[in-house]
Amino acid sequence: MDRINVTKTFLPPLEDYQRYVEQIWERDQLTNQGPLLIELQKKLESYLKVPNLHMVTNGTLALQIAIRALDMPEGEIITTPFSYVATTSSILWEHFEPVFVDIEPNTFCIDAAKIEAAITPKTRAIMPVHVFGFPCEVEKIDAIAQKHNLRVIYDAAHAFGVEYKGHSLSSYGDASILSFHATKLFHSIEGGAIITPDQSLSDKVELMKRFGHNGDEHYMLGMNAKASEFQAAMGLCNLTYMEDIIKKRRAVTDLYNELLTDKVQKPVVPADTAYNYAYYAIVMETEAQLLGALQSLENLNIFPRRYFYPSLNTLPYLRAAQSCPVSEDISRRIMCLPLYVGLEDEIVRKVCEVINEQA
Ligand SMILES: *Cc1c(COP(=O)(O)O)cnc(C)c1O
Repeated sequence: MDRINVTKTFLPPLEDYQRYVEQIWERDQLTNQGPLLIELQKKLESYLKVPNLHMVTNGTLALQIAIRALDMPEGEIITTPFSYVATTSSILWEHFEPVFVDIEPNTFCIDAAKIEAAITPKTRAIMPVHVFGFPCEVEKIDAIAQKHNLRVIYDAAHAFGVEYKGHSLSSYGDASILSFHATKLFHSIEGGAIITPDQSLSDKVELMKRFGHNGDEHYMLGMNAKASEFQAAMGLCNLTYMEDIIKKRRAVTDLYNELLTDKVQKPVVPADTAYNYAYYAIVMETEAQLLGALQSLENLNIFPRRYFYPSLNTLPYLRAAQSCPVSEDISRRIMCLPLYVGLEDEIVRKVCEVINEQA
């Protein structure tokens, strides 16, 4: 049997992509704010119902530019230990100190009730993650930020298209960032975006992502995070299939929900949320059960992933150890099951059988 991974990149029909490549050949413009990039940005703003979307080379640069553009004095950024490493590494890369606040065990997002206790005179911002596309407690977080005069950057890398109370989840905070990596729900091979409701921040981001200059006029220190026309072309192709992609992923999710034993913690979409079916994460009762299931699945050539493990507060290159018992505990017992367009029911059945046996 072919190897089954946790995800499989969606590829549009080759002809769709070729049509864009022909346009690129005709125009001979491969990058630098090309027409495909401009078109994709506009279409994404409309699809996601957000203003000021800036596409960049990847989600990690989006995080770094968002941090940089907020122009904060050196200090601490409150964040979550339960995420992909890029959330923490971006903070460190920009020379801020990550301060970890533990997570809420059902959504796996930062526990808003624990944020205020972590605020110090050096706190500059909060960087929460909408883990697996589940909304953070955005109202509470934004209220805390206002009260303490902190900035908020949402890592919305998993939240493409998610709506909360009828609003785009990417419209919250001073800025939200997305990832369009090939393993994500919507992709442009590599890619990402910064979204901000703040017009002056938006103008800054636009310059920062392309060396801080316009022609011969240099305005600010910048870097290179420009997405190419080939990335934009892939995004334009994939965007037309989103409805179908989400529908198919939802069907796989429904099947997992139906077949998996209630002895494992299954994902529960929070209230008021129009979900995107980006991930299917389960928490087993013990790490031994999880490792047993992983081993049995590996024997069948099926490879779920331990997302997210280890808990980021235990990274070896942090300056000081910080304790986050809930995140550390869940990290040891959680995994994401295979979920993608084209995943066969038969595989889902096998996965559930193995897990039910271990649980
Ligand atoms: C994928 C991911 C990123 C980084 O995005 P890249 O496009 O791979 O650089 C950041 N945060 C989270 C939560 C992610 O899952």
